[in-house]
Amino acid sequence: MNVKAIIAAGGRGERMGGELPKQFIQIKKKPVLTHTVEKFEKCDLIDEIVLVVPEDYISFCSCQVVDVYDFKKVRRILAGGKERQDSVYKALLSLSGNTDIVVIHDGVRPFISSEKIAKSIEICKKEKAVILALPINETVKRIEDKFVITTLDREKLWVAQTPQTFEYKLILEAYKKAKGDGFIGTDDSSLVERLGFKVKVLEGDYENIKITTPEDLILAEKMIEK
Ligand code: C5P
Repeated sequence: MNVKAIIAAGGRGERMGGELPKQFIQIKKKPVLTHTVEKFEKCDLIDEIVLVVPEDYISFCSCQVVDVYDFKKVRRILAGGKERQDSVYKALLSLSGNTDIVVIHDGVRPFISSEKIAKSIEICKKEKAVILALPINETVKRIEDKFVITTLDREKLWVAQTPQTFEYKLILEAYKKAKGDGFIGTDDSSLVERLGFKVKVLEGDYENIKITTPEDLILAEKMIEK
């Protein structure tokens, strides 16, 4: 089995404010993206890692995120695209045809565990598509013009996380179809769902937060101290 990881870190993180994109901000003296890459480097089932970063950060990433920490599995650092989907598609197209499984992860989720990555790969061998998700514990409402339209049935609502892990052939087909149809999804799974394929769910972890706002960074510092 040839298993590759794509770590999407090609965004600029406008919601964070500030100059430096959030994936390069340091927590406990290491860039967020370094913390993330470490988890994949440590996972024995991963053979190779492809990073996608903003074009003007390729050399910065190469020096400050990869070389300094001597990661052996990072083979390529690519320039990202306009949307996350464009960034991931570029990385998918860069993989060699002998790839069996691809694990796609957000660079700004540094608290993923190597064990969970391995588990998603094991499940993918049978199911071909598996995502991490968590049941929602708050009430979710559909709102328009600041008025409640309806309250959704919480029992059936889960929040999707990454990694999302797929058979390479399947995810490539899903991305090609989305591109052809001009469809843009907010995660990788939604592109596979459009093919009518059933995606398996593996329960995620509450610590696997996506660092988006300055408050998330403070929380991340505290989580690392723990
Ligand atoms: O914007 P969002 O928070 O959904 O981004 C999730 C991940 O996708 C981040 O790690 C971000 O860097 C990455 N991304 C990307 N290319 C883009 C936009 C976002 O790789 N054009």
